[in-house]
Amino acid sequence: MSLTHQDLASILRRIDGRGYKAYQDIRGEYTFPGFRLYVDHVQADPFAPPSRFRVRISQGVAKFPLRYLESVTRRVALADYLARLFSATAARLTHSQGTGKSGRVFMARPGQEILARNSVLVNADEVEARFSVGLPAAGRRILGGVAEDICCRAIPRIVQETLIYQSLAASDLEKHVMVAEDAEALRGLLPDYGLVAFVANGSILPRRSGVDDRPLDRGNVVPFASPPSLEVEMRAPNRGPVRGMGIPRGVTLIVGGGYHGKSTLLRAIERGVYNHIPGDGREFVVTSPFAVKIRAEDGRAITGTDISYFISNLPFGADTRHFSTENASGSTSQAANIIEALEAGARVLLVDEDTSATNFMIRDRRMQALVAKEKEPITPFIDRVRLLSEKGISTVLVLGGSGDYLDVADTVIMMDEYRPVDVTGRAREVAERFKTGRELEGDREGFRPAVRVPVSLGFARPGDRRTKTKARGTDTIMLGHEEIDLRNVEQVVDPGQTRFIADALRYLEARLLDGKSTVPELLAKLGREIAEKGMDVVAPFIHGEYCLARPIEIAAAMNRLRTLEIKQLM
Ligand code: ADP
Ligand code: MG
Repeated sequence: MSLTHQDLASILRRIDGRGYKAYQDIRGEYTFPGFRLYVDHVQADPFAPPSRFRVRISQGVAKFPLRYLESVTRRVALADYLARLFSATAARLTHSQGTGKSGRVFMARPGQEILARNSVLVNADEVEARFSVGLPAAGRRILGGVAEDICCRAIPRIVQETLIYQSLAASDLEKHVMVAEDAEALRGLLPDYGLVAFVANGSILPRRSGVDDRPLDRGNVVPFASPPSLEVEMRAPNRGPVRGMGIPRGVTLIVGGGYHGKSTLLRAIERGVYNHIPGDGREFVVTSPFAVKIRAEDGRAITGTDISYFISNLPFGADTRHFSTENASGSTSQAANIIEALEAGARVLLVDEDTSATNFMIRDRRMQALVAKEKEPITPFIDRVRLLSEKGISTVLVLGGSGDYLDVADTVIMMDEYRPVDVTGRAREVAERFKTGRELEGDREGFRPAVRVPVSLGFARPGDRRTKTKARGTDTIMLGHEEIDLRNVEQVVDPGQTRFIADALRYLEARLLDGKSTVPELLAKLGREIAEKGMDVVAPFIHGEYCLARPIEIAAAMNRLRTLEIKQLM
């Protein structure tokens, strides 16, 4: 016979005042009016990570309109909206009481991006929400009455206010879903227009601060306005025509004086691989899903990456076709970041001089004269960027310092007091008038990727799905004892993504690595399994802490793992 909410209440009354271990008695399922409650895991003590709960509501009760389930984009946006509402409502209706994290009902709070999450799952039959509960205690004694209050009053109220269509602000939900759908559609149109990114007129690009991703709302905020020559109009399914600046394929420079908004524009483009919530200001800033931020990252580990396209003939004959180091330099790290991103499917490189290695970007005439080519292992990016472009790999590059790049640009956008101006024509004239005198470096060969097969990630035994993984914010992943530093993988935007990447790597190691599949093949296999079975496929137990990350970011994490073993086929 199944247990009810009254049974849960009476267990909690019975264990009131007892040692914390007695909380284990509440594991199980309970029928509540209108939903079922699952207590999947009970924390061992008040200071342990909080207990894992779920609720399931049948669509007969929740009644979400079926149109929200018609596409992946809509379903993701609906679930994202519900997760926001659940998280905020839980924070409002519960508070800390007693020891440790006691007393709180908690679901991770989403940021400005609309992401696929596993905290709320919706299908035609039911809605499931996964959250955690700090089971309350005084010292190590169970506070049964408080627990009863949380389980039998707070949780039903949160469910009622957030997971039942009738009780929501229907127009807010509608807007959330329609904005995401429009952004997704605009992103899908980019190839038809020959673009790698689109920035709608009226967008608000600057953020409040480096740690606050909400739109800047103080002082004079200049809304984005496209220069006429780069303006395009695209049609979004819900909003209709949207006008803005198109960034064409090829090599695009963003130039301008310091503090005129160059990096802010590039950062918005970086984030344009994701959809944004209504009111964010970047709702219709959309970028190719294959765009990757590239930066220098000295100190990172590199394992068996072929960086010879950029760097060869290192002192002491280190082999750069199969380059490994525990501690990369600025230039070698930036080279590896490009090569590995391309291997993982990148087609657009986003580069900011602020975070680049100067000697990787440029060697000017005078330096070429002073230091003989034979003494310089680096073929600078300026001599590769056009060859990459010929292979269909575009670059958007922020530059204030080196005019030598004017020779290799297809489009030059100048930021002038936060307003973009198309200076492509003027840039050509300048390039004609002031010859750089540089000599082209490197051979004229187009980029050919090496074929790499990961042999082992080195942190788990074969078949072991239980090696401990942890994530700290968006910066660090722990796999067993191995730490991966993701601070410089800038398109990881949500701590749920680091959690997901950590477990995805464990899953790769335990289930997919076969000593034969190449990096792109492994990423494709993983992608198929996730598309079929959801993110839960990599989870060792049921929880709601994942957000989806791209294969590009999963590969970035794998490539930074110090225990990675790679075999190169050619
Ligand atoms: P740059 O890279 O050209 O040196 P940044 O992009 O770093 O300049 O911008 C400099 C400052 O201007 C930042 O504090 C940023 O928040 C602010 N800013 C950027 N764009 C705008 C805008 N459209 N309106 C108002 N302030 C902006
Ligand atoms: Mg800058």
